[in-house]
Amino acid sequence: MKLLRYAIGDERYVGVLVGDEIMRLGIRNMAELMGADAAFVETGVLDKLSEARSLPPLTPGKILAIGRNYAEHARELGNEAPGEPLVFAVMPSAVIGDGDVIEWEAAMTSQVDWEGELAVVIGRTARKVSEEEALDYVFGYTIANDVSARDLQTRDKQWTRAKGLDTFCPLGPAVVTADAIPNPQNLRIRTTVDGVEMQNGSTADMIFSVRYLIAQLSRAFTLHPGDVILTGTPAGVGKAQAPPRFLGDGSIVSIEIEPIGKLTNPCRVL
Ligand code: MG
Repeated sequence: MKLLRYAIGDERYVGVLVGDEIMRLGIRNMAELMGADAAFVETGVLDKLSEARSLPPLTPGKILAIGRNYAEHARELGNEAPGEPLVFAVMPSAVIGDGDVIEWEAAMTSQVDWEGELAVVIGRTARKVSEEEALDYVFGYTIANDVSARDLQTRDKQWTRAKGLDTFCPLGPAVVTADAIPNPQNLRIRTTVDGVEMQNGSTADMIFSVRYLIAQLSRAFTLHPGDVILTGTPAGVGKAQAPPRFLGDGSIVSIEIEPIGKLTNPCRVL
């Protein structure tokens, strides 16, 4: 099932994508589909996808992200592949949706980079869960762009600003429910910038699998429904190009993961 949050005029809805139509559900928020008493109410209304404006699929309580989870990406930036997951947090206030503008002030950063990633949406409270049962806690999967200000990342020595600036966490367009992706370790991630392919990787190459990450993270933090895990990016970021290439005013970044869809965001320098 492919779930969308969308707006028509000033009204906001959640629905199921069926072809080029959206079957509207009688809920306002994807969180209502999570947990034991989740109710799935069809309204019988069909909206045209072409008339719907995409919204961020959800507002995460917390966003946990993993650095250097693909060996080739660790290498391209001159880093060792980590022996255990490198965990950091991204501000939930950084979330925007498909089609929304990634923007930043020129005075703040001049090295804005893309990171196409598989994002995991937690559906049940998870605390110290085993690797074997970890995927039972997944509500679904979406696409993330872990937008990164490389100059801030280097200068600040930790990544709160570099990866947490407003608009720096595009999510979407859809959440594909976990039943439709029984194995999250065989998905292709492609990132294009202005139509040119920059990343083409597979989640098969993650150092730490989704299962392992959920088990490990749930030892440190209680994971709640609606929390999101960014699972790391494959090789092909802008900083690793020769010469380095960064996003600028008017750049368009698209990240595609089958069967989730394509997350596209234009960029604006303020
Ligand atoms: Mg990342």
